[in-house]
Amino acid sequence: MLAFPSTYTVGITSLGYQVVWATLAQRPDVDVRRLFTDQGDPQHRHCDLFGLSLSWELDGPVLLDLLEQQRIPIWASERGDDDPIVFGGGPVLTANPEPLAPFFDAVLLGDGELLLPAFIDALQECRTAPRAERLRRLAAVPGVYVPSLYAPRYSSDGQLLGVEPIEAGIPGTIEKQTWRGNTLSHSTVITPEAAWPSIHMVEVVRSCPELCRFCLASYLTLPFRTPSLDDGLIPAVEKGLGATQRLGLLGASVTQHPQFGDLLQWLDQDRFESTRVSVSSVRAATVTPELGRILAKRGSKSLTIAIESGSERMREVVNKKLATEEIYAAARYAKEGGLNGLKLYGMAGLPSETEADIEATAELLLQLKKATPGLRLSLGVSTFVPKAHTPFQWQGVRPEAEKRLKLLGKRLKPKGIELRPESYGWSVIQALLSRSDRRLAPVIAAVRGRHEKLGGWKQAYREAETPLPPWEEVIHQNWEAERVLPWEHLNGPLPKATLRKHHDEALT
Ligand code: SF4
Repeated sequence: MLAFPSTYTVGITSLGYQVVWATLAQRPDVDVRRLFTDQGDPQHRHCDLFGLSLSWELDGPVLLDLLEQQRIPIWASERGDDDPIVFGGGPVLTANPEPLAPFFDAVLLGDGELLLPAFIDALQECRTAPRAERLRRLAAVPGVYVPSLYAPRYSSDGQLLGVEPIEAGIPGTIEKQTWRGNTLSHSTVITPEAAWPSIHMVEVVRSCPELCRFCLASYLTLPFRTPSLDDGLIPAVEKGLGATQRLGLLGASVTQHPQFGDLLQWLDQDRFESTRVSVSSVRAATVTPELGRILAKRGSKSLTIAIESGSERMREVVNKKLATEEIYAAARYAKEGGLNGLKLYGMAGLPSETEADIEATAELLLQLKKATPGLRLSLGVSTFVPKAHTPFQWQGVRPEAEKRLKLLGKRLKPKGIELRPESYGWSVIQALLSRSDRRLAPVIAAVRGRHEKLGGWKQAYREAETPLPPWEEVIHQNWEAERVLPWEHLNGPLPKATLRKHHDEALT
């Protein structure tokens, strides 16, 4: 059974979910059924494996509901020989699985292309063995983390001292696995019921070489990988365009593919005249007049660029190599190409940010509006949330962000610039989930039924009777370099020392 913690419409629009499903479905020795919150394939009499795909920290409680609905104990420690092995993967679990670790029998760290076949093969070899033996066998597969075979150790004042194997023969650290093949992923299901109806999604790049200091999409998935055009991307695009005329080019930074210009030229052919092409966020510095023109011609209405901040100083701190002039040029090219709108993304509460930096963001938007009249501008702003395995993992959420989000609203809304701020309160909960350890698990279990309300999370935290990761320390404090991180036993692409070096370069 492969579950997604949302409706069919949302789940089937997740390329990651589709690809895991297709990989399992292609194996003759696996019969895979799908499960969403509103529907599912007919169930099996007996299920050996229950996979959960998680791409959003706040969806943890929904996963537990799905387990319970299937009559599977939510706590791994309460599962017996006849219960399925519950496994999960994806960026949230790869970055810091600890708050959810007590619910999983196995967490797959890294790229599914490598991990899934090795995981299933290992399980097939010991399918009839007692559960404990199966788990030990899985723990020997590179990149497979079996949380129950590790225990956290705390000092008397509640500081984490380490997460260590509980018996000999279990690896002390687990290495994230990296796929280096020439093809990345593309849709295997094209359906009008998807959130983007009938879209064929193609992953153009994996990771991003820019290394913005807060960015999980870059740091966690390094190295930057780009399939070649002729034997990777074009065949992947062609596969879907027989079935639909809607194409989505996905990736953290698609325009940085070294042959992206050639791909655009190829899509400019007459035979794609009625094909609609959309691209996920592009790097502003890579926007060209050609990109604006071809996207407009292929049905895109707007372009999305992440600027992070209107302040050059702030962009330097976060390593966003983007000059103000390049932002103006991107807006100009979008307009000249025939696009109607430009969506910009920024952040509030970044480490070292001052109110002057926020004023600079407002000012940039106002000047952009003047410079490109007629182009609809909107600014999406989120609060900085620290993510594991990035240089800013040591930095806390800054309470000033809440006021600064409001300040942007005051400056921009009266001038007709749409502001789409993300809730500060939810960013706080996200940080709680992204920097906590296993002690948070009882809160995630208890918040079910009220997890859609901020107050529900706060209440569940207050009511917990077991020791918890301290609220202020986990969410808001800047952590010392020496601190043992809850994910310290899980090796990401870059060593901790390199991340700290990038942190110090940014902030000292
Ligand atoms: S350019 Fe975008 S995707 Fe790349 S590192 Fe920066 S924020 Fe992340």
